[in-house]
Amino acid sequence: MTPSDTKQGTQKKAASAVEKAADRRIGVHLSTTGGVANAVRNAATIGANTLQIFSASPRMWRASKISAEQGMSTRAARAELNIGPLVIHTSYLVNVCSQSQEVREKSIAAFRGEIERALALGAEYLVLHPGSYRGLTRAQGLELAAESITRAIDGVPWQGADFYILIENTAGAEFSLGGSFEQVAELIEHLRPHAPVAACLDTCHTHVAGYDIVSEAGWAETVRQIESTIGCDAVRVWHCNDAKAERGSKLDRHQHIGEGKIGLEPFRRLLHETKFAHAAFIAETPVDAPGDEERNVRALQKLLTSASDRDRQIKLVEEIMDKDRNILKALAE
Ligand SMILES: [Zn+2]
Ligand SMILES: [Zn+2]
Repeated sequence: MTPSDTKQGTQKKAASAVEKAADRRIGVHLSTTGGVANAVRNAATIGANTLQIFSASPRMWRASKISAEQGMSTRAARAELNIGPLVIHTSYLVNVCSQSQEVREKSIAAFRGEIERALALGAEYLVLHPGSYRGLTRAQGLELAAESITRAIDGVPWQGADFYILIENTAGAEFSLGGSFEQVAELIEHLRPHAPVAACLDTCHTHVAGYDIVSEAGWAETVRQIESTIGCDAVRVWHCNDAKAERGSKLDRHQHIGEGKIGLEPFRRLLHETKFAHAAFIAETPVDAPGDEERNVRALQKLLTSASDRDRQIKLVEEIMDKDRNILKALAE
């Protein structure tokens, strides 16, 4: 290899990093204060090209309808600023597999509202936690979740819309449905004949549920398990959150990118993984200080464009070899 070969190689690497930065969708959960179109504009301002929102207060059963004007202004802002996909996170109150029929009925009505608002806003994805089946068996919980979601969407005109309900994997706490890839896949299979469904995976939930996404070999094995259960193609959104708690702890505490038990390198691997190149990467990191949303988006973007430790080592060795070669050449002349 001549020095000019190395240079070409480096240029090629740099070009592909720029391409990746342009085509990966990276964003963050943002507040809708001032309207959804305003959240879209805020996403663009902080350098994100996708975002997640709540379409109503996540801690109240009552929600107001999305006006036609709001739907239009949201679509216009997204088209103007090239922001997408738009992801909506379902209210925390919704529990589609509750043992209480009263809670379930309220959840079905509320989730139907979530679907209607998502369609009114032109959102591509609606993320749902499968819920808690406390008091029931896991099999009963799964049946109830599938039945409730099917009832919630029944009669809503979603056909023809670019819209999917995404089942999110959970931290694996006792009685929470969706703590393993198998459980997410099972629910998706049950729902597929009745609703447009795919998956959302959360790095923090995956880590605390016990999967190894931190070591290189562990990540390869985890991707293999996703492929053989949910299928990588079906993962439309990755929630990118570092974790305050240890792997396997089942404790769902999100941390800023690179500042938790996961660390920076696994996020670099995830963002560079070609099997998930189609997905949107959205941080749901804490907002401890003004500007934290932007900082976490920038942290993810930087991982996409900067070289990994291993790449840096290879480059260093190449440089040393070039130097040696030049010395030998000079001696020969
Ligand atoms: Zn999440
Ligand atoms: Zn979480």
